[in-house]
Amino acid sequence: MLATIFTVWLLIMANAQEIQQKLQDLIDEFASSLPDKLAEIDNLWKLVVSTQKIITLNDLIFTSHKLAGAGSSFGFNGITEHARALENALKIILENSDEDHIVWNQEQTSSIALLVKKLLDNNNLKPSNKIEQPVKNIIRADSDKLIIYIQEKNRLVRNELQSKLETYNYSVRNFLTLGDLKQAIIETPPHVLIMDATLFNAATREMIADFKQQGYAFSIIHLADDDDFTHRLNAVRIGADFYMTRPVDASLVIDTIDKISVADTPEPSRVLIVDDALSTSQFYALSLNNAGIQTRIVTDPFNVMQEVIDFKPELILLDLYMPECNGLELARVIRQQPNYIGTPILFLSAETDIKKQLETLEMGADEFLTKPVNTNHLIAVVKSKLERYRQLTLLMNNDSLTGLLNHTNVVSALETEIARARRDSTNLSYAMIDLDHFKAINDNYGHYTGDVVIKSIARFLKKRLRITDIIGRYGGEEFVALLPGIDASVAKNVLQEILDDFYKISFTHINHKFNVSFSCGIADVVSFPTAEAISEAADNALYAAKQAGRHCIRIAEN
Ligand code: GH3
Ligand code: MG
Ligand code: MG
Repeated sequence: MLATIFTVWLLIMANAQEIQQKLQDLIDEFASSLPDKLAEIDNLWKLVVSTQKIITLNDLIFTSHKLAGAGSSFGFNGITEHARALENALKIILENSDEDHIVWNQEQTSSIALLVKKLLDNNNLKPSNKIEQPVKNIIRADSDKLIIYIQEKNRLVRNELQSKLETYNYSVRNFLTLGDLKQAIIETPPHVLIMDATLFNAATREMIADFKQQGYAFSIIHLADDDDFTHRLNAVRIGADFYMTRPVDASLVIDTIDKISVADTPEPSRVLIVDDALSTSQFYALSLNNAGIQTRIVTDPFNVMQEVIDFKPELILLDLYMPECNGLELARVIRQQPNYIGTPILFLSAETDIKKQLETLEMGADEFLTKPVNTNHLIAVVKSKLERYRQLTLLMNNDSLTGLLNHTNVVSALETEIARARRDSTNLSYAMIDLDHFKAINDNYGHYTGDVVIKSIARFLKKRLRITDIIGRYGGEEFVALLPGIDASVAKNVLQEILDDFYKISFTHINHKFNVSFSCGIADVVSFPTAEAISEAADNALYAAKQAGRHCIRIAEN
């Protein structure tokens, strides 16, 4: 176990070093391109003076704006300060000029000449802030079974909780002393720690703070005697993620743990960065990668919609000023589509005009960050928006018992995946799964135990299928899995293994042990090219599997 943690840690560190190096390369690249950029400003300025043309003035404003933004991204604060002063002064001239020609007096001309000189004289080619250190390494429980540690002073509560949780196939351990608990966490980190509030003292607080500091990522459920605000606040302060009052409702604990395990999916968050300056977007991308977030960069606003559909970003970082189509317009285009109405949009710009910022917020932006933005600040804002977005979409689109996609969302996902398969000329399999004799399980062991089985199959499918596979609860004890890129016979092999292993799980009701099987029907899009055809074919194949005696899989033949 320790060896595994160490290997993972080494990998994370190696990757972090690589990212650091790339960040440094981008900064060096910017530094070496700076003389050219300043020369461009100089040329444009000379042109403005000689031609007095508005179009050239606009060019110079845009170039200064870009330089201010880039300077701040790479930590060249001096450049940013002077480029911004120049941009602002030029904008005032622009406002007072007529359509084609600049209107200004001698005094204005010389004061702007001075600003240009100040910018050009800027020989501070060293970035003033260091690259942020990579985020600390994260230590997570590494096990197929959910590991839960309990520290609870009441023996009855403790034992009941343990036995209920064990029905769910969780690995549960009880601890009586803090020393034992600490040792166990070091040896095998848990997913969840359930702690009695009355056992909290300075030593406990210190232990938890220590673990968090070292990067241990387990969730804490705080069991308290009452629902008092001060107590809740204290729980938050010691780092508890959930707060529950006695008498402990075991099914609530289980629901909470299920939510944690859903939220705990290893899938990294996806952020789409739209900025016409490639080096700036690469810098933000690497900073976010450093914090474990997956990114994709688009420099041409006209490609944004395609990337949004392909990459399914959970947050979009938009530059405000781009040639041809500005960020505001782009945000409107994205928001016009019902699927992306809730996707957080963050503007990142050197724009300091409060009126402009308010305008972007009014049209539905979630946040406006002014460059220069400290990368730690950017990461913190992005992470908190992402977390909220995941929670909200989970509540809106997912079935509350299993956390899987609900019926409506499976249907819309099917349309998207069929379109994608067609575009990429790949296959897509559609598997319909139905638990066998489920009514008998409810009748023999009760509805509660039936729910346990439904949650278990949901969790099992999530664990065993790929991240790119889409899993939904179609209703009752029926599930759908969409498996992109594979044909029905490959899908059958995958599901056969899942069926065999799921049947090995033994469920418990009081002292009675039982196993559950399912039947499955599969169709692929090459044989059944429309949403109606593929779902009907899979349904028929499922019926055939039931007819064949259940506990088996059938493929729909054309
Ligand atoms: P078959 O092998 O033919 O599929 O038989 P079956 O008993 O599984 O199928 P049937 O469709 O007759 O019964 C499904 C049962 O699933 C009936 C319903 O009470 C139960 N059920 C549906 N949703 C839930 C749920 O959320 N929780 C529980 N516990 N039971 C549910
Ligand atoms: Mg059934
Ligand atoms: Mg059914």
